[in-house]
Amino acid sequence: MSNESLFQEALSHFPGGVSSPVRAFKAVGGTPKFFARAFGAWFVDEEEKQFLDLCMSWGPLILGHAHPDVLAAVQEAVQEGLTFGAPSRRELALARRIKLMAPFVEKLRFVSSGTEAVMSALRVARGFTKRDRVLKFAGCYHGHADAMLVKAGSGLATFGVPTSAGVPKAYADLTLVVNLDDFDGLEAAFAKHGSELAAAIIEPVPANNGLLLQEPAFLQRLRDLCTQHGTVLIFDEVISGFRVAPGGAAELYNLAPDLVAFGKIIGGGMPVGAFGGRADIMRVVSPDGPVYQAGTLSGNPVAMAAGLATLERLTPEVYKRLEQCSRRWAQAFEAIPGLRAPHLGSLIWPLFQSGVRRADRVKPGAITQFNHLHKLLLDEGVYLPPSGYEVAFISIAHGEEELWHFERAVEKVSAGLAAMV
Ligand code: PMP
Repeated sequence: MSNESLFQEALSHFPGGVSSPVRAFKAVGGTPKFFARAFGAWFVDEEEKQFLDLCMSWGPLILGHAHPDVLAAVQEAVQEGLTFGAPSRRELALARRIKLMAPFVEKLRFVSSGTEAVMSALRVARGFTKRDRVLKFAGCYHGHADAMLVKAGSGLATFGVPTSAGVPKAYADLTLVVNLDDFDGLEAAFAKHGSELAAAIIEPVPANNGLLLQEPAFLQRLRDLCTQHGTVLIFDEVISGFRVAPGGAAELYNLAPDLVAFGKIIGGGMPVGAFGGRADIMRVVSPDGPVYQAGTLSGNPVAMAAGLATLERLTPEVYKRLEQCSRRWAQAFEAIPGLRAPHLGSLIWPLFQSGVRRADRVKPGAITQFNHLHKLLLDEGVYLPPSGYEVAFISIAHGEEELWHFERAVEKVSAGLAAMV
């Protein structure tokens, strides 16, 4: 069946024909590819066309699609039952591994998505501090909990307005939004509201509005202000966790958050999230404390098995290799005229602009050019995330053959791109 006819049917079932919005290709145009199967760095669509995947399910697949060790671990777990709704040994094994890699995590709880992890961490911070307000940064995405679907209101250090219909204004009123890389804005926000802030949450490697790499001094200042004001610092490491270093951005920048949200890689391709951090804060979580938090499938044994098999293969050598690899892939991207490719630890942001550190500095023209690039590369068998605001992901399966394929595709599209602009 063609992708087009599948998508036509999908439109009759799902809003926009998809189970999550950016999959709809609204930004780049065209028909979404229906994945039939995937292996390593490649997938095959329902028309039996093969593509080099640079989206990799948006991050979980740091070992590549269908890694044999992950599949074997899942198959073994499946034989023992799909879900128990009761404690099981695999939760302990994954918790041990997470604490080994991210030692600032003293206690944690498993959930089933990054959204849930963030939503729960915010509630814990509020319960612990007995404060209601939170601070986030423009351009950081933290999943779709109501408190996080908020953009800056007008004026400095004012509370936010909803970015989605259905989010009550009263919720948005509790979220303060500051620009990334805005030292003055950060100072002003804490000077005015520090004593009211339960939490400040940030993607320490912001990777949801492109890759807006921050100066370490900005993160350090945020850490200091949180400590000074008794505000819980939450690192959202749903993307950066176990990717930019074994201990994520916290290790990379040598900064411990009070709480952290994980997702993606810790599930190895299965639905897993986790939140955790300081034991004294986590003590407020039910049943130890008064902050309610629960989940029928939390700690699901099959998902734990996939996560553990993934994390166990992430040795220091793997991180070294991924970093070297992403440098070479970034160079390959930069062979496209006018394109820059900031990168960090297997995240690469192809953009027709350079030196961007905050969301409002991305030029719409740069995104339009990306949209052309997306289409041209897709025609050459390369699948980029279908939005210029998304980062490309590579994995250990992106080897020499894949790079060769990519470089050939880049050679072909470069001329076409120049002609279209
Ligand atoms: N936080 C960050 C930094 C993310 O990138 C995402 C998902 N892209 C989320 C939270 C939400 O995770 P999920 O989609 O698993 O709910």
